[in-house]
Amino acid sequence: MLYRLRREDFGEMMHPGGVSPSWPVTYETLAPYYDRAERLYSVHGAVDSDPTEPPRGPFPHPPIEHQGRIAVIAERLRELGLHPSHLPLGLLRPGEPDGCILCDTCNSFPCKIRAKSDADVCTVSPALEHDAVTLWTNAYAERLITNGSGDKVVAAEIIRDGQPVRAEAPLFVVSCGAVNSAALLLRSANDVHRDGLANSSGLVGRNYMAHLATMLGAFMPPRHDTVFQKTVAINDYYLRGPETDYPLGHIQSQGRSNATIAKAGGPPAARGVPTWAYNAWFARGVEWLAMSEDLPSPENRVTLTSDGRIRLRWEAINAEAHHELVALARRLLRKVGAWYVLPISLGVVNTTHQCGTAVFGTDPKCSVLDTWCRTHDVDNLFVVDASFFPSSAAVNPALTIAAQALRAADHIKDTHLR
Ligand code: SF4
Repeated sequence: MLYRLRREDFGEMMHPGGVSPSWPVTYETLAPYYDRAERLYSVHGAVDSDPTEPPRGPFPHPPIEHQGRIAVIAERLRELGLHPSHLPLGLLRPGEPDGCILCDTCNSFPCKIRAKSDADVCTVSPALEHDAVTLWTNAYAERLITNGSGDKVVAAEIIRDGQPVRAEAPLFVVSCGAVNSAALLLRSANDVHRDGLANSSGLVGRNYMAHLATMLGAFMPPRHDTVFQKTVAINDYYLRGPETDYPLGHIQSQGRSNATIAKAGGPPAARGVPTWAYNAWFARGVEWLAMSEDLPSPENRVTLTSDGRIRLRWEAINAEAHHELVALARRLLRKVGAWYVLPISLGVVNTTHQCGTAVFGTDPKCSVLDTWCRTHDVDNLFVVDASFFPSSAAVNPALTIAAQALRAADHIKDTHLR
């Protein structure tokens, strides 16, 4: 799912749970990098009826059309006056002999035929075709080591195949994901950076965000044979609800589920449900995801325990808007034909869409990174993943991570590598 943030996500927005802060760059700053990222990750989509679509040109590839039951639901949503739109999907060559076969295991599984636009397929493997690029696997970055004055990283201490290795370089880019990037900086504390590397603001690890997300199972007899159902989005309530003036979030259809996914990803009680019951449900079911913006709080944070383990504290802040979105989605799905709509992930907490632990900005007192994701405190250290997000928005973050990474790479090329 490769969404651009909505233009409004770059500005300040009021939610019932608090304020979603503005970004130090605008949508227009990232737009050309979104264009490049969409080409790089082969995004299929349509500039059609999404009321929140920001100004943009056509997608690099046409949308994946709604199939079977999803096409029927999209039509019924339109009859209700809503604006169902095509999800922006990262798939390679759908329908071509060596391309994506639009199967029913896209959700939750890697693609066995390498037709999903993931980072390995679209960027890491192609990069390895260059002689100058080396990939170390089974290698764990333990600490970053600075020079005596603390203004440059000189080496990374790495455990590779169980052995300590020291890697020296003129430039370091940390990209471990929002939780682990923060943890690496905190682990790298030294005499100059006592509270963690690049942490003069005290914000490394703080403001951790992850979307408020609830999976919904809609029971819609009769049985149906729609194979690829992750194609439709409802963004009518992204900026305001039908009866409220604040944002609720985003709703999207999901790939078909099965008993294995339900037992592995559901709440503990889900494991005791017999497989035949799941099969009966999912043969007639359509799965959905309702997703609302999480808001930054300094108390939601990554820290290290005294023995070096990562501790993550998180408490939902914008729950009121999310509960409203879930209730609204359930009502909508009943109106378009569902007999029952059950929240099937209630109470499950995971780190999907993690962001915010090294926020970017122009003021070193209020941010960890500058607007090109270079740390304010250390000249040759960049953090390029979702750690830089000042707010989480309510659409999938991957394309924004890629776009900002391309922007940071251009900056590095023009400055440090010149
Ligand atoms: S898992 Fe299936 S739908 Fe997903 S990219 Fe691979 S072939 Fe396509």
